[in-house]
Formats: sequence, C-alpha cells, structure tokens
Amino acid sequence: MKRTLSILGSSGSIGQQTLKVAEVCGHEVAAITVNKSVELAEAQVRQFAPRLAVAVDENAATDLRVRLADTDTKVLSGQEGLLEAASLPEADTVVTAIVGVAGLRPTLAAIDCGKRIALANKETLVCAGELVMSRAQESGAEIVPVDSEHSAIFQCLQGCKNRGEVRRLIITASGGPFYGMDCKELSLVTKEQALKHPNWAMGAKITIDSATLMNKGLEFIEAMRLYAMPPERIQIVVHRESIVHSLVEFEDGAILAQLGSADMCLPIQYALTWPERTTGPAKPLDLLSCPPLTFQKPDPDTFRCLGLALECAERGGTSTAILNGANEAAVALFLEDKIGFLDIPRLVERALDQVPVVDRPTLEDIFDADHAAREAAHQAVR
Ligand code: MG
Repeated sequence: MKRTLSILGSSGSIGQQTLKVAEVCGHEVAAITVNKSVELAEAQVRQFAPRLAVAVDENAATDLRVRLADTDTKVLSGQEGLLEAASLPEADTVVTAIVGVAGLRPTLAAIDCGKRIALANKETLVCAGELVMSRAQESGAEIVPVDSEHSAIFQCLQGCKNRGEVRRLIITASGGPFYGMDCKELSLVTKEQALKHPNWAMGAKITIDSATLMNKGLEFIEAMRLYAMPPERIQIVVHRESIVHSLVEFEDGAILAQLGSADMCLPIQYALTWPERTTGPAKPLDLLSCPPLTFQKPDPDTFRCLGLALECAERGGTSTAILNGANEAAVALFLEDKIGFLDIPRLVERALDQVPVVDRPTLEDIFDADHAAREAAHQAVR
C-alpha cells in the first residue's frame, strides 16, 4: 500500500523517522511543514520534492522561499500554511507530528477533509479528545495512533469485532531516567540528566515529560479518548525494558501484547500501511538477547505529574486542557533553566487550582483553558 503523505512537523524526531519510512517503503511526500528549521526543510524538499513546504515562522519562510527558488515546491508560512498542508487534496494521509496543542487546529482540518490521520500529536486528544473523535466519526477520517503504546493496543485489537469483549487496556511505562528516586533526590536532578532517556531517542519536550511521568499521564488520557474507555479500565505498569509496548486484556482473561525493539519506525509505518504490513526500516527484536521482562507498579505520589494527570482523567471537561497547557509552559520554563524539576508538577497543580473547569467544552473553551493555564504557570514564576 503506497500512501501520499503530508507531514506536519517534518523536522522533529517523528517527522524525520516518517521520512525514513517513506524513503524505504516508497511512499510519496506531498507536503512538509517546519517551524523554523529551514536548512533541514531545504534538504527534505530536495530529497522528496513535495508540492508544498511550510515554515510557520514568517522570516524562516522568506529564507526558505529563496533557498527553493530553483524548485517546483511552493512555500507558505503561518497558520494558513499549516492548514493548507493539512488539507492538501493530493495527500491521503496526514502525519501529525507537531508538538503540543499547536497541532489541534491542523489535525481538525485534516479530519474534516476525511484524511487518514497518523496521529503523533497526543496533546490534541488530551485537550480535545471527545471533540476530535466525534468530528472524525462524522467525516469518516481514520485515526491511527503513532504513539508506540497506543499503536500496540491498536494492533492487539485487530480482529476484535466487539469492544465489549475488552476488559482492560494495559499501558507500559519505561519509568524514565529517574525511576525509583524519592522526592529529595528528584529535587536535585538537572536538565542534562532529564534529557537522557534510558531507552528512547525523542524530542526535548516528550523526553522531559517521560522523566516527570507526565507523558504516561497524557497517554492514559489519550487511550481513554482513542478507545472510548473509562479510567477504571486502563492500567499503567512500569516495564523498564521497553520491549512490551502495551497490552489488552479480554473478558476471558487472555492478554495480548505487542513486542518489538524501541524503534518508532514500526508504529509510524503501521499507521501508514494499516491494515497491511510490509517490510520496513525497523530493527527486528531478537528474543534470545532480550533481558528478563519485568512489570512493576508506578508511583503517582512521588511522580506527582502522573498523579495530577490521573485526577484530570477522572475529572474530564477542560481539566485535561489545563493540565496540558500548564505542563507545556512549565516544561518550556524548565528547558530555559528558569525553574527546577519539581517545579513542573508544582506549576501544573497551581494552574489546576486556579483555572475553573468547563464541562462539555467547545473548541473555544478548550483554547481559553489552555491560555489561562499557561498564564497561571507564568504568573507563578514571575
Ligand atoms: Mg508513547
């Protein structure tokens, strides 16, 4: 199955790995978008010759237009450019690899055009999951997860005709670089330590989220929305080896799991080719050289971000958008060396205390909640 892709966020970790999959598997690339990374965007255009390239930043777009003057690729900028890339007629599949709530509007645009969404932007479902899933149902857009845990669950659910047969989803967590530390030790960790994930090579934002375990909290909410599951039917288990990517337990007690090497090319590729499987660039897993597989309980009290996310999963409404907005702001502040590691959950908790929750929110309510949460986080630092 050959696909024609529009890749939103082609300069990030998922975007670059998507292009690797496209190259090996022979998918066409119709559009790429970056924020400011013009050098990389130019190289990608020269290799894949998309019809459209977008740099969201205006100055970067001007630069990119000059660099690509000798090509047939059209260059656009800003939000309009992103929306055009998301709804480009010749693309049948949109890979949403933009980080954060910034991916929400373009994802909705692609959904309204009935595209297949290879969903790598979990914040979209965390903030506006019910809205996104109902819009997809209306337009017939298929949403196939790229997140390794959700891809694993998606794979385990193939052939399951009756969702009532599913007892529980079991999401695995690597535990991040600080697993087993207490609060005193966590208060001393540095940015450099937090940016070193033991198993996965990823972008900075998700690597910090993995260290605080906020990533697992966001994934818990993402799974609720994707699979219409109540929180009591989702379990998180710490699995330090990152070999079992997640599991599904059925009513008869059978548990299906998906195993593989820690390589995002596989879930990316499956999101493109589903329901088919093809050869691709992912490293095969050699069971005989695997360490013993272990499973343990997570600690949402020490890793407070996880605890807060689980509370928001129960609460619903705009609480998950507040959680996400405050976390995006706090992680940016941490990466700028303006706050310490344990200030991340403190700022998120403060925003959750301050910003009122709206039930059954509209898209505007969600953006308002996101904005107010960021403001609350910034105010706390000022
Ligand atoms: Mg994941």
